[in-house]
Amino acid sequence: MIEVRDLYKSFNGRDYVLKDINIRVNPGEFVVVLGPSGAGKSTLLRCLNYLSPPTAGEILIHGERCHGQRKAARRALRKRIAMVFQHHNLIGRLSVIKNVLVGRMAGIPLWSCLLQVFRRHDVDIALAAIDEVGMAEKAYARADSLSGGEQQRVGIARALAQQPDLILADEPVASLDPKNSRETLAYLRSVCQKKRIAVLCNLHQIDYAMEYATRIIGLSGGSIVFDGPPEKMNVSVIESIYPGIEDDNV
Ligand code: ATP
Ligand code: MG
Repeated sequence: MIEVRDLYKSFNGRDYVLKDINIRVNPGEFVVVLGPSGAGKSTLLRCLNYLSPPTAGEILIHGERCHGQRKAARRALRKRIAMVFQHHNLIGRLSVIKNVLVGRMAGIPLWSCLLQVFRRHDVDIALAAIDEVGMAEKAYARADSLSGGEQQRVGIARALAQQPDLILADEPVASLDPKNSRETLAYLRSVCQKKRIAVLCNLHQIDYAMEYATRIIGLSGGSIVFDGPPEKMNVSVIESIYPGIEDDNV
């Protein structure tokens, strides 16, 4: 289980961008974080893997406090938490499998990673992850020869190959069309449920959240204003997450 306790984040020491964040996520849960622009969704994900250190609070994985100021602690945390980005961040000139292997070597500098001969064990894990997202046939294709949707699936395979406890996905479908968005979210949910990996996924689309999330967290002004299953999302909950949405007629 992943636990976030009393997390606060301030960039200037005065105003809090995240306030009193408490979240417990079980293995296999697919949690979608919804909220208007500026609510703090990206900051939350960045705090969780210490890309942007929290001002206060702690993160526990299976009861173990696993972050701190020390580099080694952060590296250990990042091994257990994988990221999927909006722009997948693949290295275009490398093959799919090499990109996925780079994910497997999380925490090791890229140049050192590419110089080494990958162990059979790592290659097998990478190939299995590529297969999980339906990309086995393109395992040796160059990443930049793939469509946007395929590249995002490779981004998911890269995260899976890290064998993490938690995947953080920041608007992973923002640059995809509806068909590819659905396909990507469906892969992310089904593979992570099967492998018992927890997912925290920021989205802007309420309809995708309703369709794919097992749980929704509503963030507004840096605070959690809703935490529950999609079935509990009603007009007043949506209004609390997106104040003024009715007036805007969005
Ligand atoms: P969006 O939906 O547009 O991606 P978001 O919910 O992800 O928005 P964040 O990017 O987390 O929002 O930003 C939350 C608040 O924190 C904003 O007011 C933003 O200006 C502020 N913020 C984010 N990063 C920094 C930073 N590095 N320095 C100062 N302020 C920041
Ligand atoms: Mg954001």
